[in-house]
Amino acid sequence: MPESFDVIVVGVGAVGSATCYHLAKQGLRVLGLERFAIPHAQGGSHGNSRQTKIAPYIGGPYEAIILRAYELWRELVAESQQPDIMVTTGFLDVHRQPQVAHYNRTPAPKDTGYFEKLDLAEIRHRFPQFQLTEPYWGTWDPTGALLRPELAITSFVRMAMQQGATILGNTPVQSWKADRFGVSVQTDRDTYSAGRLVLCAGPWMGKLLSDLSIVCTANRMSFGWVWPLRNAKSFLPEAMPCWCIDDEPGIYYGFPMMTDVPGYKIGLHWYGENVDPDQFDRMPNAHDEELIRVGLRKFFPDGNGPLLGLRTCLYDHTPDDVPIIDTHPDHDLVTLCGPLCGAGFKFVPAYAEAAAELAVTGTTTLPIDFLRIKRLLKQS
Ligand SMILES: Cc1cc2nc3c(=O)[nH]c(=O)nc-3n(C[C@H](O)[C@H](O)[C@H](O)COP(=O)(O)OP(=O)(O)OC[C@H]3O[C@@H](n4cnc5c(N)ncnc54)[C@H](O)[C@@H]3O)c2cc1C
Repeated sequence: MPESFDVIVVGVGAVGSATCYHLAKQGLRVLGLERFAIPHAQGGSHGNSRQTKIAPYIGGPYEAIILRAYELWRELVAESQQPDIMVTTGFLDVHRQPQVAHYNRTPAPKDTGYFEKLDLAEIRHRFPQFQLTEPYWGTWDPTGALLRPELAITSFVRMAMQQGATILGNTPVQSWKADRFGVSVQTDRDTYSAGRLVLCAGPWMGKLLSDLSIVCTANRMSFGWVWPLRNAKSFLPEAMPCWCIDDEPGIYYGFPMMTDVPGYKIGLHWYGENVDPDQFDRMPNAHDEELIRVGLRKFFPDGNGPLLGLRTCLYDHTPDDVPIIDTHPDHDLVTLCGPLCGAGFKFVPAYAEAAAELAVTGTTTLPIDFLRIKRLLKQS
């Protein structure tokens, strides 16, 4: 292991692994420190699948970020030679409200190819496995895709290490310090020093940022896999895209049946239960199953079959539910990359690229002003 490092990255989950890769690719001496085995199922990036889509972000603040993220996901697939990291499935977004701001803002599909509006009859025709009635309508985004989080993290770590990064799993960081000359990080085994520090601790960001007056929270979520009762073929990726249905008490979301896990996956995107990420009940329970059964009974009568797996996971939140990507307000040599706020996986390679640029140069070309921490400091 090198005696000193240019940059230490704390947290080698989704965005930390990608940040290690972006930094190592520039020839920097990088140390990544992860408290659990890599990859793991304790944070916000497990469960075999994540959704991505472009349409809702066109014309809004995330446009440049999602477009850059798509480029970088494709680069990752090519460089790692792991086509399963990103599988294009298309995306069916189902809405209840007659107007949905981000889809009204988006230019017509002829101009962009990003989405097409579908009325109920058209959804029924194309996707008969969905049971939808008035007032639902939909949008079809052909760029929608399924991303594989564990495979992406593994690939980023492998490629970072091939570029010379040192990455240590099972190494919890207990504290960090920074002054104008450099940073140091204390683990239970050693103290490490470097020129710069990037904090990518996901649901644990609140613990590492206890010196700031910003409340970053972690929330317990759950999701599951079920086997269809009938018409199993209509849940295969040839027939079923990634999807979301706006409902109460949140947004149901799901994926087609893939080969790495039996059954098809469904979850509920909602606020969940606010928890201490070090002390909460990770064991899935009957209430977790009932959350998805409600959606299955309502929207997938043919799909409401035997349960194959339930898991819990952590969302992370800032007070305004917009991520933080910025230089630490009190320490120029420390970059913050998180919390990513419950929908951040799709943006990970772009956030990581921006965090790596901020760490090295203090600036980034990605338009991330709305993600800067000053908006939260003003409020507090
Ligand atoms: C159930 C669920 C479904 C989701 N679905 C989607 C989706 O479909 N699309 C989408 O875009 N996003 C989705 N998200 C959000 C997205 O997955 C997360 O925003 C993203 O993966 C978080 O990445 P991260 O790197 O910030 O956090 P993590 O991957 O959790 O990484 C943080 C890492 O820091 C480590 N760490 C923390 N403290 C320390 C310490 N002191 N020392 C060392 N290491 C430390 C942790 O162990 C962890 O590995 C979903 C999230 C969940 C939970």
